[in-house]
Order: sequence, then structure tokens, then C-alpha cells
Amino acid sequence: MIELLGKSLSELQEIMVSHKIPKFRGKQLIDYIYSRFIFDFQDMTQFPKSLRDWLEKHCTITLPTIIAESISPEGNTRKLLLELSDGSRIETVLMAQHYGNSICVSSQVGCAMGCVFCASTQGGLFRDLTVAEIVGQVVLFRTLADEAIHSLVIMGAGEPLQNYNNTVQALQLIHEPYAFNISYRKMTISTCGWVPNIYKLADEGLPITLALSLHATNDTVRRQIMPVGARYALDEVLEAVTYYYNTTQRRITFEYILINDVNVSQDEAHQLGRIGKQFPNCHINLIPVNGNEHIQLYKPSNKDMNTFKDIVSSYGVSVTIRKEMGDAIQAACGQLKAAHGRKEEIHE
Ligand code: SAH
Repeated sequence: MIELLGKSLSELQEIMVSHKIPKFRGKQLIDYIYSRFIFDFQDMTQFPKSLRDWLEKHCTITLPTIIAESISPEGNTRKLLLELSDGSRIETVLMAQHYGNSICVSSQVGCAMGCVFCASTQGGLFRDLTVAEIVGQVVLFRTLADEAIHSLVIMGAGEPLQNYNNTVQALQLIHEPYAFNISYRKMTISTCGWVPNIYKLADEGLPITLALSLHATNDTVRRQIMPVGARYALDEVLEAVTYYYNTTQRRITFEYILINDVNVSQDEAHQLGRIGKQFPNCHINLIPVNGNEHIQLYKPSNKDMNTFKDIVSSYGVSVTIRKEMGDAIQAACGQLKAAHGRKEEIHE
């Protein structure tokens, strides 16, 4: 079976031509999938019956299946637990913001990074998502939301820069005017600091926004909460991010989880302000940690969070405390999946 989802226009045209089907059918297929959201070949009535039957026999358009859904009480955050064709499960979140719909996409099943605060990595990495599976999350949400998607963040389960080729290829397809026509500036890749591929992405020439999960201002604390910190020192990570900024001129986002008694001293706030100051126009997103019975980490008091923020802000850096939009619906990374039990995944 040939999977048609995730293929570019030229790839679909090649498939058509190599099977002696006229090339223009490729564009019609793209329009059915990404503009009309028709996935059943028999409903593609512009095609002769013979072509519909051929497609049905040889091709497939596989969207993830919805296993569970939670909608926030205000109705503006919608989270889906999705099952892929091999039974693996991932999460995708759609957030209705004042500027439009933003979608948070997963890049891997599980994650190898082992950050202590993150539910998605508790069972390790199972596998990379394919281009079709990354794009499939967007297609599915687009059909459900029935309105345009304004922006996209690769901030769900997984380390996107470890699944580099599929992630970038998926974003290239999503960007195409014939697919979702989302500009690269409205796409964000969030990384824990996978240094070599920060350089690689910078050299790709795509103005994608980079978000760095910083979470600590020194190597000692960073290694305690993010094992990747032992592989790449903070200096190396910040050097790579500097290269990204200099090459793309894109405003960098830093994510910093606020964990009581771990990384929220006033000294750390000053240090975070100093780091932010090195990156013109950067934005620092402070994220109150979301705990659960397995992740026994707690957010600081509102007063402490505000003090932390004010210190960072005193360095002239743009800084906000993230609204806990997803909290009520277990939108924090991996938590819906964890709440539904883990379908058997075989780890090697
Ligand atoms: N591997 C990538 C992307 C996935 S994690 C990265 O590290 O950036 C993306 C973000 O999920 C983290 O930066 C953090 O902001 C958020 N996150 C993970 N676990 C969380 C938790 N327990 N509470 C709050 N935010 C969390």
C-alpha cells in the first residue's frame, strides 16, 4: 500500500506518472486531501471509477484514530489522544488563541530525553513519527476545527531535532500553499538543546522559530532535571542558539519551567535575565510545572513566580508566565496518555 498522506505534490505526481496515470491527477489528489478533506477514494468523484478503484486497491490515506478527547472548561483548549496504525499513542493539542488556532504537534512516540518533569519520556522512546503521522495530526485537527490553523508548535511528545528529517519534511509540506499555507515564521520547533541539529536547522534557510527548553541557568541544575545537559553543556547550547539567531534573525523563545526548590532562586532569576539579554528580542516563557502522582514536582507560589518574573524583566527582557491553559484538561506533555494507561509498547 502506498501512503499518500505526507507526500508533496511532486511526489504524488511521480506516483501517478509511474503508474501510467495522468500527472494532473496528483494535484487533484492534493486538493482532495488538504483543501476538501476527502479521504475516501470512492468520494473523489472527479476521478473515473477505474482510478478510484485503483487508488483503493493500491493506496491509503491514514489518519490517526481518536481514542480520547478532553476539552477545557472554557472550551478553548482541545486535546486529543490519538492512536497510530501500529497501536502507538500520541497527543495533539489545539488551542484557540485570540489571534487564531494554534496546534501543538508530537514528533515521536515517547521520548529518549528523560527530562524529570515530563510525562512523555517516562517510558523512553518507542519510535520516530513518520512525515505522514506528523502531517496527519494537523489534517485531523483541521477537519475537526473546521477553521484555519494560524500557527503550529512542535512541542508535543518527543524531541523533534532527533527526528530531524521527518519533522522538517512535514513542516515543508505544511507550509506549501496547496497544503496549509502556514508561514515558517508561524511554526516553532521546541528543542531540549540537541546541539548539532540546531546548527543544521539554522543552515536549512527556513525562518522557523526556535524555542529552547532551557529550564536551568547552570549545568549542575540542568543535568539534574535534563539528562541531555550532561551531553551538551549550557555554553555549547547557547552558542548553537546564538548561531541560530545570527543565521535566521528569528526571535528566540526560551522556555523555563518553574519548579519549587529546584530552579527558582533569585540568583537564578538574575542569571536568566542575563542570558536573555544576550539575545535581542528574545522572549522568555516561564511555565509553572505541571505535576501528577508520578511527577512530584511543584510550582512555586504565585508571589514567588511573580518575583522571579520581575527580576528577569528588570534586565529589559520580554518575559511572561504561561497561562495554564491546559492544566484542567491534562494538556501538559504526555499526561492524557499517561492517564489512559499505556497501551503495550515494546521497548528495545
Ligand atoms: N523535546 C522538546 C519538545 C517537547 S517538551 C523540548 O524539550 O523542548 C516541550 C515542553 O513541554 C517543555 O519545554 C515544557 O515547556 C513542556 N513540559 C513538559 N513537561 C511539563 C510539565 N510537567 N509541566 C509543564 N510543562 C511541561
